[in-house]
Amino acid sequence: MTSDSNCIFCKIVNGEIPASKVYENEHVLAFIDISQVTKGHTLVIPKAHHRDLFDLSEESAKHVFEAVPKVAKAVKHTYEAEGLNIVNNNGEIAGQTVYHFHVHLIPRYGKGDGFG
Ligand code: 5GP
Ligand code: ZN
Repeated sequence: MTSDSNCIFCKIVNGEIPASKVYENEHVLAFIDISQVTKGHTLVIPKAHHRDLFDLSEESAKHVFEAVPKVAKAVKHTYEAEGLNIVNNNGEIAGQTVYHFHVHLIPRYGKGDGFG
């Protein structure tokens, strides 16, 4: 599996730095964002290192996007959210700061919840 020793999310996958894990299988990891936009803000990542959407393999895409609805349902239920946004930033211009592909799950609680 592709890995980048300088990548913070690869370090989370490898257990070198801690994260609050929400879901894990052989190919995918989901964990709470260190700076939650709303309560339960979760990131879903492939365990394999891909910089962004343009570098994502079909296999990793399949694994991540299979996991997204499962994790979204669990997060919505756990945090009793009313709704949830999916966000994915690709490239600096789009607001990407960590160059290991990830999907943001942002639970929504109504006006003034901190997002949108
Ligand atoms: P981006 O801006 O690339 O779409 O999102 C990167 C996200 O990763 C940000 O929301 C940021 O808070 C989160 N993040 C950055 N470093 C860490 C970390 O070490 N641990 C966790 N759990 N989240 C991180
Ligand atoms: Zn990585």
